[in-house]
Amino acid sequence: MSNRSLEEIHPRTILSTMKPYSPGKPIWEVQRELGLEKVIKLASNENPIGPSPLAVAAIQSSLANIHRYPDAETIDLRAAIARKLQVTSEQVIVTNGADELITLISETFLESGNNIVVPSPTFSEYEFGANLMGANVVEVPLRDDYQYDIDDILGAVTVQTKLLYLCSPNNPTGTYMKKQDLYRLMDTLPPHVLVIFDGAYSHFVTADDYCDGLELVRQGYPIVVTQTFSKIYGLAGIRVGYGVAPEKILQSIRQVKEPFNVNTLAQIGAVAAILDDAHLEATRDMNARGREQLYSALQELGLAFTQSMSNFLLVELGPDAKVIYDSLMKKGIIVRYGGAWNLPHHVRISIGTAEEHMALIKALTDILKDLKTN
Ligand SMILES: *Cc1c(COP(=O)(O)O)cnc(C)c1O
Repeated sequence: MSNRSLEEIHPRTILSTMKPYSPGKPIWEVQRELGLEKVIKLASNENPIGPSPLAVAAIQSSLANIHRYPDAETIDLRAAIARKLQVTSEQVIVTNGADELITLISETFLESGNNIVVPSPTFSEYEFGANLMGANVVEVPLRDDYQYDIDDILGAVTVQTKLLYLCSPNNPTGTYMKKQDLYRLMDTLPPHVLVIFDGAYSHFVTADDYCDGLELVRQGYPIVVTQTFSKIYGLAGIRVGYGVAPEKILQSIRQVKEPFNVNTLAQIGAVAAILDDAHLEATRDMNARGREQLYSALQELGLAFTQSMSNFLLVELGPDAKVIYDSLMKKGIIVRYGGAWNLPHHVRISIGTAEEHMALIKALTDILKDLKTN
């Protein structure tokens, strides 16, 4: 041991006020802590049928080349995304998960004293990015039915507002912004506000009046649409996400990006996954059926939930929500507790397979029965 002190080594003051991200508990951790063999995870909105088999095969066949640096410009993957989304390669940026893109956007646009406007409750990474840069977070509560209120959002924007985040469908509520509302908002916002449209769950939407934001990019609006390979494409573990935006905006974001942010296997897997329409359709179908299955089971249990356009449901369990969450965990079923969103009476449950739902409903039924008799 050296006798030098660490007392005078000071991290930035802002770090002492930053909230850590609380991820869904991983399966191995619950297995280890509770000594359970079978654990069902419905906590992180992952793809319950697994990754695209084409992606797995492509990754396997490229393992021998990982002594080489990845393509810093992700040329093949940007071309594949651009083709799929009918934009140009210059309008696409690829990142280490969409989470990295949120950080890069924060680093690119936010100075201390600026603010971001976010709906509330929503995904916590927006706030994280703002905090990191010393910017303030202005929360606009969703209405009681968790719908967006366009006038409230417009009313929250000031001269200090650099970014407006719209998560649609929103995590954790599953509600979305209607197309006509999105256009009204985009056409009314002052020109100094960049909109970040988080479409992590776009692929799961079945409503006709939804807009995934991509047409606004094609029309040149000041908007960045973020999407990810972590959800419908089933590649959460390999970390790849992307943004679609007017070229000029991406030029700035590229200035803060590390050259090799997306690894070789992620690039190759994602190119294969985006071409795997069968896997995407199978996932989408299963999700739509799974939502209906869960709706009716929850209704039978007398539990309230929010209609979702996503691959998760926000379920109201009342004052016992934390107890029920803990009891589910003890039975080997991981869901997400709502406390982190200031929704202490709720849990968020990811759509899983039919078997996983049966196990969940059985466990919930037993727990609710126990609570009643005690
Ligand atoms: C999961 C998620 C993301 C992105 O996740 P990555 O794994 O980092 O690509 C982005 N936004 C929302 C709202 C999410 O739920």
